Amino acid sequence: GHPVYRDMPTTIFEKMSARARETGAINLGQGFPDSQGPAEILHAAADALLNRSNQYPPMAGIIELRAAVAAHYARHQGLDLEPQEVIVTSGATEAIAASLLALVRPGDEVLVLAPLYDAYLPLIERAGGVASVLRLTPPAWRITREALAAAVTEKTRFLLMNNPVNPTGIALRDEELALLAEYCVTRDLIAICDEVWEHVTFDDIAHKPLMGFPGMRDRTVKIGSAGKIFSVTGWKVGWMCAAPAIATLLARAHQFITFTTPPHLQWAVAEGLAQPESWFTAMRADYQASRDRLVEGLRAAGYVVNASAATWFVTIDLPASGIALDDVTFCERIIDEAGVAAIPISAFYPAHPVTHLVRLCFSKSDTVLDQAVTRLAAFR
Ligand code: GLN
Repeated sequence: GHPVYRDMPTTIFEKMSARARETGAINLGQGFPDSQGPAEILHAAADALLNRSNQYPPMAGIIELRAAVAAHYARHQGLDLEPQEVIVTSGATEAIAASLLALVRPGDEVLVLAPLYDAYLPLIERAGGVASVLRLTPPAWRITREALAAAVTEKTRFLLMNNPVNPTGIALRDEELALLAEYCVTRDLIAICDEVWEHVTFDDIAHKPLMGFPGMRDRTVKIGSAGKIFSVTGWKVGWMCAAPAIATLLARAHQFITFTTPPHLQWAVAEGLAQPESWFTAMRADYQASRDRLVEGLRAAGYVVNASAATWFVTIDLPASGIALDDVTFCERIIDEAGVAAIPISAFYPAHPVTHLVRLCFSKSDTVLDQAVTRLAAFR
C-alpha cells in the first residue's frame, strides 16, 4: 500500500494564501483579519508571557480559561457548563480532530452538511468513519426534514456540523436546529458542533448553540475558537465542551495530539472572554460595517452578492453577475489578472460541487476592501 495521504492536495486556504504572497495579490481568500488584533488582548498575552509561566500548562488547559469559557457561555448563550467540561485545544481544527479520533469507531457513519469545511472529510476517514453527506441547495441552503431523513441511516452515530456556516455565511434558523436536535435525540446521535463563528453574527442575530436544545446538553461537543472571536487567527487557541463522560474521552485524544496550548495565549483569552457585552457588540458592528462596505462596492461594480448573516465571508454569484466562468476558473483569473485572491466554493465539496459561487473575506481595512473592489470592477 501507499501512504494514505499521498494523493491528498494541500488545503485551498494555504494554496491561495501562498499564491497571494508570491504574486502580491490582495488576499480575500483565507479567512483572517489584516489587523493585529485588539490591543487589550495583545497586552494581556504579552504580560502573561513576561510575568507568568512559560512551561507546560495542565493538559486540559489552565483552569482559569476553562472557567472563563464556561462563564462566557453561561452569560452569552444560557449554557450551564462546569469548567471541567471544557478542554482547551490548539485551535478548533484540533478540537474537531480530537473529537473524531476519540469518539468514532470503524464503520460509524458521520452525517455532514455540504458545503462543508475541507478538514472534515479527511479527519472522519482517518478516524475510521464514513461520511454521509447531506447536500444543501443554494441560495437558502435550508435543512429539510425530508433531506435529513434520507441522509440518516441505521449506522449514523454522529452529526458534525458548522453553525454559523463557512462558506455560505448562513446562521441556521431555529426550526432547522430544532430538527437536527430532534434527530440526534431520537437516533441517539452525538453532535459535534463547530461553532467558531458564534460571535461573528450580524443584523442582531443571536447565536443559538445546538447544545442548548432539549435533550442535547449531554450529547453535544461544542467547539469554539479564540481566533475568530478576538481576530487573532494565528494564536490557535480553541476549546471543546462536553459532558464529563465524553470530555474524558476527548482529553485522551487531545493528550496525544498537541497535549497542550501556549500558556500566555490561554491567559489572554481567559481575560478576553470576560470582556463586557459591549466589547462583543462593538466587534460585531465593525465587521458588519466591513461586510456592508464590500457588498455595496461589489454591487455598484455589477456583481450579484449574497450578503451573509455571519462569518467574515460573502459570496459572489457568477452567472447572476453575467460572468460565464466556473468558480475555479474565476479565482484563477482574478488572482493573475486583477490581483485579488478568493476561494472557490467547490473547495467545500467532496464531489459534485456547486461551482457558481466564489467566497470573499471582508475582515480587512476599508482601504484594502476599496482597492479590491476597484480591481474586481476593472476585471469585469
Ligand atoms: N477557517 C479559515 C477559512 O475558512 C481557514 C483556516 C485554515 O486555513 N486552517 O478561510
